[in-house]
Amino acid sequence: MGLHKSRWNEGMHDYLILGQGLAGSLLAWQLVNAGARVLVIDNGHRSASSRVAAGLINPLAGMRFNAAAETAEWLASMRTTYAAIAEAMRASPYLHEIPMQRLLRSPQQRRFWERQQANPVARPYLGRPLAPEAFDPGIRAPHGGFEQRSTGYVDLPRLLDDLRTWLKSMQAIEQAEVHYPDIVTSPEAVSVGPHRARHLLCCEGYRMQQNPWFADLPLQPDKGELLRLESERPLCRHIINGAHWLIPLQAGGYRFGSTHEHRQIDNLATDAARDALQQGLQALLVDGADIRVSEHTAGVRPATSDRHPMLGTHANDRRLHLFNGFGARGALTIPWYGIRMREYLLAQRPLPAQADIKRFA
Ligand SMILES: Cc1cc2nc3c(=O)[nH]c(=O)nc-3n(C[C@H](O)[C@H](O)[C@H](O)COP(=O)(O)OP(=O)(O)OC[C@H]3O[C@@H](n4cnc5c(N)ncnc54)[C@H](O)[C@@H]3O)c2cc1C
Repeated sequence: MGLHKSRWNEGMHDYLILGQGLAGSLLAWQLVNAGARVLVIDNGHRSASSRVAAGLINPLAGMRFNAAAETAEWLASMRTTYAAIAEAMRASPYLHEIPMQRLLRSPQQRRFWERQQANPVARPYLGRPLAPEAFDPGIRAPHGGFEQRSTGYVDLPRLLDDLRTWLKSMQAIEQAEVHYPDIVTSPEAVSVGPHRARHLLCCEGYRMQQNPWFADLPLQPDKGELLRLESERPLCRHIINGAHWLIPLQAGGYRFGSTHEHRQIDNLATDAARDALQQGLQALLVDGADIRVSEHTAGVRPATSDRHPMLGTHANDRRLHLFNGFGARGALTIPWYGIRMREYLLAQRPLPAQADIKRFA
């Protein structure tokens, strides 16, 4: 493997973390701040979906606008975690809260919205109904829609870069590809090449499919592609969310996405997805002329069969743990689950049952 032994990393760590995507980064943040000795090993984000993700925060999921029971807690943890990191890094906020205009895709879908009005978990995020002409100028919304609250996006690339710099300042990150045969566990410790620790936390995103200890868990990788757009004229003020979403970025430009592909799992941007996205954009905008695509990226969401994350300890090896499976909603949920995982590891608190990998036993 590509790990080089150096003086600083000799000796025992409390935790080795495999992967510095959002999951590995926020878990490292929790554990270091609790006083643990941590070393993160990452291959330079070679397959990081966190670098590709739009970081959209949307408490109401899918066509039926479902809200999970934990939504309010997810939002609270997300706000405090991203704010605390920005303060510690002396950085401008990573989280940009921007209200959303949600399009109804058909008259039938209005029923789902009406049903959620009676749901106390979803109701706080539902704003007023919107007639087609109440959308931002230039947005085509033939079936109207509604306003949504507690939405926004997280600037994930900048967050990951800053956390990497922070880890480097503590000599707590190593850039290397980990090959699974180089992971050796014993009753006393786990070693990854020259590095030893009491525990290994696996946070390698969709590549956990290759991890021999956890590969049998039902991950359902979901490839996605998105575009970055530039336009001389404003396209929207709100986040627009229908069949696709359009996010106005703080730094200028827009993100437009995304696609879902379950058969061809890789990080390659394709012409077919670009065409599909451009058709989606034409359907959303009254006038799609003069819009330039400045970037087209692809990544793989670590989605799971039951749409809940996968957290916990290997059934036969108490030194190996998993913190993964955050699917399409990592920016919203990882901060809360990072706290739960820290409490599980350091204080032996039970994990939330819906996310504990024991459910697959
Ligand atoms: C197109 C697209 C759009 C998305 N949009 C959103 C969105 O709007 N909002 C949202 O919340 N989520 C979104 N997501 C999902 C989001 O990316 C994930 O929920 C989250 O980022 C997953 O983080 P992770 O740390 O688990 O995985 P990753 O970000 O994939 O991180 C894993 C890390 O481990 C490294 N690694 C893997 N194997 C090894 C190895 N053997 N050795 C060394 N390093 C290794 C990888 O290179 C990577 O750096 C989107 C994803 C995609 C693909």
